[in-house]
Parts: sequence; C-alpha cells; structure tokens
Amino acid sequence: MDFEVFVLGTSGMMPLPGRFLTSSMVRRKGELFLFDCGEGTQVSLKMLNLKWKKINKIFISHMHADHVTGLPGILMLSSQVDREEPLYIYGPKKLKEYIDASRKILDMYINYEIIFVEVNEGIIIDNDEYSVEAIKLNHTKPCFGYVMREKDRPGEFFPEKAISLNIKPGPDFGRLQRGETIINTKGEEITSSMVMGESRKGRSFSYITDTLYMKNIAKKIQNTDLLLCEGMFEAGMEEIAKEKKHMCVNQAAQIAKDANVQILGLIHYSPRYNDFELKALKYQAREVFENTILTRDRMIFSIPNDGQPIEITKEKRVNYNNTRIKIVI
Ligand SMILES: [Zn+2]
Ligand SMILES: [Zn+2]
Repeated sequence: MDFEVFVLGTSGMMPLPGRFLTSSMVRRKGELFLFDCGEGTQVSLKMLNLKWKKINKIFISHMHADHVTGLPGILMLSSQVDREEPLYIYGPKKLKEYIDASRKILDMYINYEIIFVEVNEGIIIDNDEYSVEAIKLNHTKPCFGYVMREKDRPGEFFPEKAISLNIKPGPDFGRLQRGETIINTKGEEITSSMVMGESRKGRSFSYITDTLYMKNIAKKIQNTDLLLCEGMFEAGMEEIAKEKKHMCVNQAAQIAKDANVQILGLIHYSPRYNDFELKALKYQAREVFENTILTRDRMIFSIPNDGQPIEITKEKRVNYNNTRIKIVI
C-alpha cells in the first residue's frame, strides 16, 4: 500500500500513559508528511519502526504546545542522516519564530535546508501528483486544517485497441495516453477515451483540529477518504466546547457525514476521559456517522487505490531494539 496514515498521538492538552500528544504521519509513495508534532511523536515513530528522518513536509495546525513540543527533537535528529532535499514546514506565522528560537537556543546542528511557508487559507501545494489545501479554522489562536488530495490518474491504456483503430505504435500512443486526440492512418480522429479505460480516482486525507464546529468545514473536505478530526468532548457539552473553541464527537461526526467521507478517525481527546470512557464517545459519534473509529496511538490507516475500503491496523508493536530491559526494584 503506498498511501498510509500513521496516527502517532491522540491526546489533546497533555500526554498520558499510552496516549501521546497529537501527531499523524502520511507516507505516500515514499514521501513523508507530518501533521502536527506533539510530545511523544518520536516515540511512536520508533515503536512503529518507521524510517522517518527524511520527512519531506511538516504541516502545523497552530501554535499550542500540544501540537508543537515534539518539533525541536524531530528537526535535530533529522540531521543524523544525509539529505539533499530541503524540509518544508507549513504553518501559522509564529511557527517560524519558534523554529528559529529553538535552533538558536538549543544550538541545533542542522545539515539540511529548512524552508518555512506561512500558511494562508487556500491551496498551498499543487503539483502533478497531489494538492494540499489549508482550511481556516476557528480556535483561540490562528489555526488551519489541511486536506491532501491525489490527482486523478488516467485510466489504463489498451494498445491492442489502438492498433485495431489503425494507429501505429510510437509517439501517437504517448499522445493518446496524455489525453490528446490524434489522426489515424486512415485520416480519422481518434480520441483518448476510445483507447483508455476510465480514469482512476485519487486518494485523499483530511486533518481537522482544533476548532469550534463550523458547518463549512464539510464543504472543504468533501469526499475525502479518511478524515482525522478532533473529538475533544462528549456529546452534550456543545456550549463548553464552543467556549473553549473545540468540538464534541457528535459535531465531528456531523462534519464527516456532511462531507461524505469514507472513515472518520477521532483524535485529540480530552485527558478527562479514560480509555474506557472514550468508548462511550465513539458510540455517540456513531449515532451520527456510522463509520467512526476511535483512533488509538499507532493505529494505521491504509488507503487503497480505486475506492477500495480503507484497511485499519491496530497498534502493531515491533521489536524496535534488541536490548533487554532489566527491572530493578
Ligand atoms: Zn490541541
Ligand atoms: Zn489548541
């Protein structure tokens, strides 16, 4: 699978045993994208045995400690490998100050280029493979959600069909595959759709935390395959959630429903809930949107091609080092 989402931390506000602070990583065709970087991010990466030191792009939602305290360590340890490519970091204005100050005060040795991009609402990346759009959220500080969409890929090319339509193998094959119309050896027009299968839909991922409930979020993330969305409070606490500029799980589920996503993974839980109590929150969300998952640290979502169902792997503990732990009482 070449589009995976690794949930590295699911706690909001403070880290708890078994629940690190908010962070997720997308691995797509060998490229790594980190979304937020709370305390514990590195531990989860290690536990998942991921080769992460060449992260390509980091997206930060906002400048609250539970979303950025893991960042200096990530930047520092990324220098343990040689890399040619720069690291792009996207986020609100203050993020640059935080990175610059951390580098200076901690005397960080960094052997690669960091390119900071201040985020404003709208498309922030658009290349041949995918786009990333920043969504303005409403929190106690400037805050952005992100949606990443692969471009649709052209359908399969059928060379026998082209030959049967009097097209000579060669440059015309390439033109047809690029969507162009050509003239065959008999002088007839042959369009690309006559020799190609249906286009294959790109995969997508959206990341929404921290914000009060806004109806228009759903419009921005329409039809994404996987939505990771904050589930800070239980249903019934909407007033408090609004005051604190967060959401209840039923509101997250409403966004998932309105956006017609395939799966909603809840993240960023209030530390007031223990693991058992969180299950109740899951059922509240499922009353609104059935395909809700109570995401746990190190859960992995693999998004297949061609609209196949997302595969979910619960925490996979790997033997990440071979040292024996000696317990001294
Ligand atoms: Zn937070
Ligand atoms: Zn916050």
